[in-house]
Amino acid sequence: MKVLLIGSGGREHALAWKIAQSPKLTKLYAAPGNPGIAEEATLVALDTDNHVSVADFCLEEAIDFVVVGPEGPLVAGLADVLRAAGIAVFGPSAAAAQLEGSKGFTKDLCARYDIPTGAYGRFTDAEAAKAYVRDQGAPIVIKADGLAAGKGVTVAMELDEALDAIDDCFDGAFGAAGAEVVVEAFLDGEEASFFCLSDGKTALALASAQDHKRVGDGDTGPNTGGMGAYSPAPVMTSEMIERTMKEIIEPTMRGMSESGYPFSGVFFAGLMITAKGPELIEYNVRFGDPECQVLMMRMKSDLLPLLYAAATGTLAGMEAEWRDETALTVVMASKGYPGSYDKNTPIEALPAASTQTKVFHAGTAMKDGSLVATGGRVLNVTAIGENASAAKDLAYAAVNGVSWDNGFYRHDIGWRAVAREKA
Ligand code: AMP
Repeated sequence: MKVLLIGSGGREHALAWKIAQSPKLTKLYAAPGNPGIAEEATLVALDTDNHVSVADFCLEEAIDFVVVGPEGPLVAGLADVLRAAGIAVFGPSAAAAQLEGSKGFTKDLCARYDIPTGAYGRFTDAEAAKAYVRDQGAPIVIKADGLAAGKGVTVAMELDEALDAIDDCFDGAFGAAGAEVVVEAFLDGEEASFFCLSDGKTALALASAQDHKRVGDGDTGPNTGGMGAYSPAPVMTSEMIERTMKEIIEPTMRGMSESGYPFSGVFFAGLMITAKGPELIEYNVRFGDPECQVLMMRMKSDLLPLLYAAATGTLAGMEAEWRDETALTVVMASKGYPGSYDKNTPIEALPAASTQTKVFHAGTAMKDGSLVATGGRVLNVTAIGENASAAKDLAYAAVNGVSWDNGFYRHDIGWRAVAREKA
């Protein structure tokens, strides 16, 4: 199978690394890719916003299968254009990608199919949103409806903060994504992500993970794209997984099909495990980044046939096998992230590869033959060990092997799981 992978982050490096191990693969291309992906794939300089040019490349090179990593091209309809050109593609249609692209769409689906989630209101007018918030009281959560790169959510502990967040949204802080505001009840509990493949008819449970959104140790400071992750999430016991499938995932699949938007690709539920059980916070229509990196470390199965089955409606009866160990990844970011940071800072050395550790590249580039950091999140130092404590020790030992003066990282990735193990 000749495969084209779309994307350039740590998630796509992990996918490239795993796909490259498939006996079914004959040739892997990636666009635009990064220096880590270049170790696994031939990079092609395609403009991935130009969907027709991507389709033309696939037809010229006789690509059998396209795997789309990030949500942006999916919400913009890349999968639709490729499918219309007769190319098999892993990733949902733009209509199905609304599951991530519009929080209001997903909340309405939850209401129709009785999926447990916080009570909510949808608003296109600031005064109506504020009246609802005053009526409900704090704590309460204010969300821009559309994609806002993880920044469109305010968990307001006080009423004033909620009212300000409504003004920010309608004043254009998130551009068109904030033209509608969703106000949602605050859910209390422990968060986990739960990943599934779907071919539009069948959902195949993959695995759970937990990420670390805040920039600083002890979950302090502003939100980021994610500073680390581990899998599995201990809070996702087999009972919680069973309830999540039955109460959340299966009705969602049914709802999407009955609404005329059958979902094909990978999606994950952001869950709050509350005293009542799992409740849905949001859906994402792609692998999480950096959660994908730990899932790929743990996956025993050949990934490529699973992705192809999801893309071609043949997932029924397939299974994914996992290593029982814990995988953990530490994100190394440029000093200043998630604010502004210097670009093109030199990365002098990376740790030697081992069977238990792997460094995935995110925002890196080659400049004059040397590796430099070009992005906010730059390296994902990933390890697998017999439990979270062992994986954490291995990952941080590998972090010590990175020589990059402008980098920083959190020191406490995996703290919840490690605390449980100590207890
Ligand atoms: P989202 O982009 O919807 O995942 O929201 C980002 C983060 O905000 C989540 O990971 C949660 O930590 C928090 N959050 C979102 N919605 C809620 C909610 N209803 N209750 C409590 N926390 C929330």
